[in-house]
Amino acid sequence: MAQLKHGDVKGKILTVNGLIEPHDLGKTICHEHLFIDFRVVYQDPPLKKDYKKSLEKVSLGNLGWIRNYWNSNKDNLILNSYEDTLYELNDFKEYGDSIVELTSIGSIRLKNHAERLKSLSSATNLNIILGSGFYVDNSLPEFFKNKNVKDISDIIISDFFNPVNKISSGVIGEIGCSYPLTENEKKSLKASAIAQQKTGASIIIHPGRNENSPFEIIEY
Ligand SMILES: [Zn+2]
Repeated sequence: MAQLKHGDVKGKILTVNGLIEPHDLGKTICHEHLFIDFRVVYQDPPLKKDYKKSLEKVSLGNLGWIRNYWNSNKDNLILNSYEDTLYELNDFKEYGDSIVELTSIGSIRLKNHAERLKSLSSATNLNIILGSGFYVDNSLPEFFKNKNVKDISDIIISDFFNPVNKISSGVIGEIGCSYPLTENEKKSLKASAIAQQKTGASIIIHPGRNENSPFEIIEY
C-alpha cells in the first residue's frame, strides 16, 4: 500500500480510518481518553491502614472512599473496557460526530490502543482522531531517553504518514508537561514543535499542575 504524503493530508482530517474533509467532522469533542492506563498519577493512600483499599476493584462498597482518594486506587486509574466504551460511544452518537483521542505514546496507552480505536470507529461510524507525541516524563517509554530531539520528532512525523492500510495519528498531543519542566519534557516539546511544522497538524499541550506552568512552556 502506498505511503501517505504531505500533499495527501494537507487541508484534510486524518482519522484512524483514513482521511476525511473538515466539513465532515461535525460536532467534535477535542480532548478525550477512550482508554487510558493512568497509573502514572498513582499515590499511596495518606493513611497506611487504607493501603489494601488501593488494590481493590472499584465497587459500591468503596466508591465513597475512592471519590475522596481517586488516584490512590489502581483499578480506578485504568479505563480499558471495550464494551463499556462502545456503549458510551453509541450514547455519544446522539450528540456528536467526532472525537479527538489524546492518549499519546508511552505507558498511558493500552496494548493495541490504536487498533481498538479503529474498531470502535468502524462499529459506531464516529470519526476518531488519534494523538501522537509523548506524555509526562514518568510515562515515557524506555527508548525515549536515549534519543535526541531529531529522533523524537522523526517518530512523531512518521506516525502521520503510514501506508493507507495502517493507522495514522491526526494531531500531536497531548504533550505532557510537569512543573517545572524536566529535561525529557523539554526534548518532547521541541520535537513536537518540529513535527508540527513538518506535518501541519494541530498540537495540544497539557501544562503542569501549577499556574506558572503555561508561561514556562511558552517561554521555553
Ligand atoms: Zn488528557
